[in-house]
Amino acid sequence: MEQIYTYGNYLRKKYGCKVYKVGINISGFTCPNIDGTVAKGGCTFCENDSFSASTNQVQELKGFYLNLHSKENPYLEKQLQQLSIQFDAISKRQKDAYGAKKFIVYFQSFTNTYAPFDTLKALYEKALSFPDVVGLSIGTRSDSVTEETLDYLAKLSRDKEIWIEFGIQSVYDATLKKINRGHDSANLKEWIQKAKKRGLNVCGHLIFGLPNESKEMMLETAKQAYDWGIDSVKYHPLYVVKRTALANDFANGTFVPIAQEEYLDVLREALQMKPKHVSVQRVTAGIDDASLLAPHWCRDKNTQIRNINHALKGVGLKY
Ligand code: SF4
Repeated sequence: MEQIYTYGNYLRKKYGCKVYKVGINISGFTCPNIDGTVAKGGCTFCENDSFSASTNQVQELKGFYLNLHSKENPYLEKQLQQLSIQFDAISKRQKDAYGAKKFIVYFQSFTNTYAPFDTLKALYEKALSFPDVVGLSIGTRSDSVTEETLDYLAKLSRDKEIWIEFGIQSVYDATLKKINRGHDSANLKEWIQKAKKRGLNVCGHLIFGLPNESKEMMLETAKQAYDWGIDSVKYHPLYVVKRTALANDFANGTFVPIAQEEYLDVLREALQMKPKHVSVQRVTAGIDDASLLAPHWCRDKNTQIRNINHALKGVGLKY
C-alpha cells in the first residue's frame, strides 16, 4: 500500500517534528467578493457571517474593513495585539495537548492579502517573530494579490516557510460565474504562475460537486491545477450550510449535493493523477453542527476518512 504524500510528511521531513498550523482571524479583513469591489454576497457557498466572529473580540473594529486601496489603518496596533493574543492562546493549547514544538501561522479567514501593503507587512513580520514559528500560510484569492506583495513574500521565503493558499475551486468560467466567484480561471492561472515564478510555495483549494459539473470537469480542474505548478492541494466536497445562497438553491431543488460514492470516485482519480511531489493537505471537509444542511455524509470526519481509505485501498493507496 502506498502512503499518499501529505503536507504533514513534507513538514516533518523538513523540520524534524510535526509542525502545527495556528489559524488566525484578523478583524478588519474582508473579501472583495463581499465588500462590493467585485461583487456583493460572496461565493454562493460562503457563510460570510461565520467570519465575523473575530469582530466580537475587538469591539472597536466592528464595521471597519480594509481593502487594497485603504489609505490608512488606524487599527493596526489592535490587529497586531489580536494576532498575538490568538497565537499565544492557540499555540499554548497545541503545546499542552500535543507537545507541539514548531508552528506555521495560518492567516485563514477572508482574503489575507486584501489590505494595504504596510498592514500586511506588519502582520506577517509580527507573526514570524513569535517563538518557534517556522513560517506563514496565507489564504487568499487570485484577484487580491499584488506584485509588491509577491515580491516581498518571495524575499521572506529565503529564510522562512512561506505558503500562499489560493481558492481555485474550478477552472470552468461558467462554474465560477454560477458560484459568484468574481474572477475567472485566466486570473487564477496568471497569479498562481506569478507566485511560482518567484519560487513561492502554492497550495490550491479544489471543490468537487460544484453546480452542473461532471466528473470529467472536476478531474480537469485537478489536472490544470497540477499543471499550473501547485505544490500542495486541498480537496473539498461542496456542502451546503444555512444562510447561504446555495442553501436557497438546495431548498428549491436547483442544487443537488454530490453523493459520497461520486466524491470518492473523483477523489480517487484526482489522487492517482496527482504528481508525486504535490503534497496533500486535506482530502475532505465538513461540519458537524446544526448549520450543515447537506449532504449528511459530510458531518462525520472520521467516517469520511475511513470511507476514503476504503476507496483508495482498491488502487493501492492509503491516506
Ligand atoms: S472568496 Fe472566500 S471569503 Fe470571499 S466570498 Fe468567497 S469563500 Fe467567502
